[in-house]
Amino acid sequence: MGIDAAGARPGPAPPSPPQPASQRRLPVLGVASEMFPLLKTGGLADVVGALPAALAEHGVDLTTLLPGHPAVVAGLEGGQVRAQWPEWFGGPARVLSGRHRNAELLVLDAPHLYARHGNPYLDASGRDWSDNALRYAALALAAARIGWGEVDGLAPAVLHAHDWQAALVPVYQHYLGAGKRRAPTLLTLHNLAFQGQFGAAAWAQLRLPDAAFSTQGLEYHGDIGFLKGGLHFADAISTVSPSYAEEILTLAGGMGLDAMLRWRRERLHGIVNGLDTEAWDPAHDPALARTYDADTLERRAANRREIEACFGLPEAESPLLCMVSRLTTQKGIDLVAQALDAIVGAGARLVVLGAGEAAVESALQSAAARHPQRVAVRIGYDESLAHLLHGGADAILVPSRFEPCGLTQLSGQRYGCVPVVARVGGLADTVIDANHAAIAAGVATGVQFGELSAEGVLGAVQRTLRLHRDRAAWRSMQRAGMRADLGWRASAGLYAALYRQLAQETP
Ligand code: ADP
Repeated sequence: MGIDAAGARPGPAPPSPPQPASQRRLPVLGVASEMFPLLKTGGLADVVGALPAALAEHGVDLTTLLPGHPAVVAGLEGGQVRAQWPEWFGGPARVLSGRHRNAELLVLDAPHLYARHGNPYLDASGRDWSDNALRYAALALAAARIGWGEVDGLAPAVLHAHDWQAALVPVYQHYLGAGKRRAPTLLTLHNLAFQGQFGAAAWAQLRLPDAAFSTQGLEYHGDIGFLKGGLHFADAISTVSPSYAEEILTLAGGMGLDAMLRWRRERLHGIVNGLDTEAWDPAHDPALARTYDADTLERRAANRREIEACFGLPEAESPLLCMVSRLTTQKGIDLVAQALDAIVGAGARLVVLGAGEAAVESALQSAAARHPQRVAVRIGYDESLAHLLHGGADAILVPSRFEPCGLTQLSGQRYGCVPVVARVGGLADTVIDANHAAIAAGVATGVQFGELSAEGVLGAVQRTLRLHRDRAAWRSMQRAGMRADLGWRASAGLYAALYRQLAQETP
């Protein structure tokens, strides 16, 4: 049903008793730059893709506004033109409504801004598109206009903006929304490392008053800060785990925005991400050579054979570790490359799927070249192969230097692929370390380590290999992870409560 204000139902609605506000369905507009399965570069897309179904169960009708990238326009079912804007940031634009797999969508179809194939943010040479400020300002102002009721029939009660790409939504509301219908805004931070910072030269294109280019507005160290501005004006802010919500208040974790976040801390919430447990289900996963559940873990051996074949490794019984990740320093992949000789010396094998920073990729590849029988790296993005790795590897390494939430430690648990994680952010919140007490109680779901260094990674791998030799303890860890409540139900309830609180606060 989405955010349509006018009832689309044929004929008069049957009379129904007035419902208390807490039970009325709440129309919410999400605003994001990517959404699984249409377009994905990382966890943001997974979250945006999972929220509509998860929130529906909590009385929220979430419609998501996306930029009209080719994959998004192609995937839009039943598209209808809801608005036409002849001049929208340098060319014509339309707002289309439709759906994809039961998720209600609005698409900002503006070919001059979004009709570009491949990574949505980068050109073919891997550089940011030079007009990114304009592209995502256009998305945010479109969302603000929908919030103001300027697109017929659409009346969201709350606007939920994701990351810097949507962070100007509250900014436009503040500077251009006087006298208009007002929907409160929630800004969710999926990763503070990406802030949408642009040179002041882009200012004239943003359609904001000059007064907004100030420390009280968008000005950020002489540049334009999309996220900085959004944090200033959003009615509420959330991030994707309670621990990350604490970390970003500190100088070490705040990435230059800690003072701003401390100023807004009363309005900051940490809501941990869930996993899409339908998309990630080892009992019904077409990407696996063999499906399995917690009682048939021995069937994972067929998936391990398939991994070995895909990666050109000889068949072996020694423990197989995997990584599925952006290959970046944030993810601590360089630490794994440094520790790799010792990891192999300790008896482990490693397969890696990912892409990212050239220096990190080549450090990993040259380490792999030294151990062709035991280490293999696949540079690239491959959803099916990612699933297969979860279904056959013994453990998944997530040695991030910081991690707002992280998803592979959740999907790892769901697949009995034990996560070995740095004790930071959402990794600390979602993995129960295999200490003696947790093992004895049968609740351990993985291995955590504190020291963010090559030695720290090696120590964690050595501890993992010891645990792996204790078959009973290992099986218990796998099963505890597979039984864990990793889905969206609880967190979607928290989002729904926050939306209702915001809607009630706004007259
Ligand atoms: P990020 O910081 O990249 O968003 P997350 O752990 O939150 O990290 O989410 C990453 C998502 O992208 C997970 O669903 C993971 O399985 C997936 N992923 C990462 N790299 C690849 C890849 N090379 N191929 C397939 N899936 C990948």
